[in-house]
Amino acid sequence: MKYTSTRDRLVKASAAQAITQGLSREGGLFVPEAIPVLPPDTIETLTGMDYAGRARFLLSRFLTDFTEEEIASCVQGAYGTGAFEQDRPAPLAKLSDGVFAMELWHGPTSAFKDLALQILPRLMTVSAKKVGLSKTILVLAATSGDTGKAAMEGFKDVPGTKIAVFYPADGVSRMQKQQMVTQEGENVFVCSVDGNFDDAQTGVKQIFGDEGIERLLDENGIVLSSANSINWGRLAPQIVYYFSVYCDLVQGGEIQAGEKVNFAVPTGNFGNILAAYYAKQMGLPIGRLICASNSNNVLTDFIRTGKYDKKRPFSMTISPSMDILISSNLERLLFDVSGRDADKVASLIAKLNTQGEYTVDEAMLAKIRTHFYGGYCSEGETKATIQSVFGRHSYLCDTHTAVAVKVYEEYVKETGDTAKTVIVSTASPFKFPGSVLTALDAGLAADDEFEAAQKLSDYAGQPIPAPLRGLREKAVRFTGNCAKEEMAPAIFASLGIRV
Ligand SMILES: *Cc1c(COP(=O)(O)O)cnc(C)c1O
Repeated sequence: MKYTSTRDRLVKASAAQAITQGLSREGGLFVPEAIPVLPPDTIETLTGMDYAGRARFLLSRFLTDFTEEEIASCVQGAYGTGAFEQDRPAPLAKLSDGVFAMELWHGPTSAFKDLALQILPRLMTVSAKKVGLSKTILVLAATSGDTGKAAMEGFKDVPGTKIAVFYPADGVSRMQKQQMVTQEGENVFVCSVDGNFDDAQTGVKQIFGDEGIERLLDENGIVLSSANSINWGRLAPQIVYYFSVYCDLVQGGEIQAGEKVNFAVPTGNFGNILAAYYAKQMGLPIGRLICASNSNNVLTDFIRTGKYDKKRPFSMTISPSMDILISSNLERLLFDVSGRDADKVASLIAKLNTQGEYTVDEAMLAKIRTHFYGGYCSEGETKATIQSVFGRHSYLCDTHTAVAVKVYEEYVKETGDTAKTVIVSTASPFKFPGSVLTALDAGLAADDEFEAAQKLSDYAGQPIPAPLRGLREKAVRFTGNCAKEEMAPAIFASLGIRV
């Protein structure tokens, strides 16, 4: 299978090229030339397998230039060697009749990014060999909090790679920040940027598009790549858990094979929910995809009206990993629903860049609305939902997951759709303990996030996940901060390159 670009149909790349390059030259995103449609007995086949088996089966449909052994070794390293509790990356919890939570936070950083970022470095090293790349790969990532940590955990001390992560100085939680600044590994670099996530992401994109920087790095034996969710090597592994949880529901007798299931996904950069959309295109029986946003509700408006308008105030919320106004992966959906019209996508994105908005045509909007429902919730509603879910179902959810639960409840009220639904739970509640704790009981404030985690553990009778325990005592290794115009110089300095 070949990959093309969302902005230029003449681009043709192998999976290995798409993964090492990250972004296509003209700025478009790599997408498969056609989404593979799987035979009807796929669910039956997959149901008999463990997570690693399901991952091998599905990834081999996309990574056609990889050998079976290569895929098996990447999958085994990521999902079969204890990085995830009990080697179960996507366990299922039942909230009530017909409503489930898929918990994607049992990995090394307690957030869903681990599912892709434990395997991406492995896919990237194999890909680099295939394309004959002998240079050091420098992975560059902007993070709203969870990606950066998960990427560094994945790439730390991987031979032939380095990783540089930028996070917004005031846009991540105390816990997230502590996770990042204490990161271990000889090949990692972390720096905060003055501004919000979009500033950091825009800075990273500019570095990728800068030929002067590319040349300078090249002279020093370095080539850039991306670990942001625009990299195909992150998206493909995310498709796996949608199939996997469906199989688990069949196996547990909760659904009949073939029965349609909805997914409610707390959404920021549109990567997680896009993987669900691809799973649906591949034949997984999915009804509606419920796209849940916090008060940065640009996607809600887009799905309801067809107008994407980023010109609005940026809110900092208690679900910071969704504080995003430019959802990069949406470009891949635009490509699909436009009938794979790269010129149209390029012109929409150009409008977004110059005018801050674009509007899709009726046909595109109609397609989007058959697959997606968009909703958002306020900070107050997020907290009230954490409390009510704990009260009603004895289920402790984090701030991001709560947004999905609330929007799902609104969806049911609005549509009366009672199809079985999986809430995609994207972070451990202990990753945002202060917000979760005060949502449960306003009288329970703690002095800091670490004390909050302990109080939350006592209150809910649940242990703090191992990766978050002992974080407070860890040595801080990175204290750097820079202006958004100074990200490239910060990278050069960290690499010891004189400009
Ligand atoms: C990254 C993240 C999201 C948003 O996922 P996207 O793929 O960017 O839409 C939601 N919740 C948590 C906890 C995250 O880390």
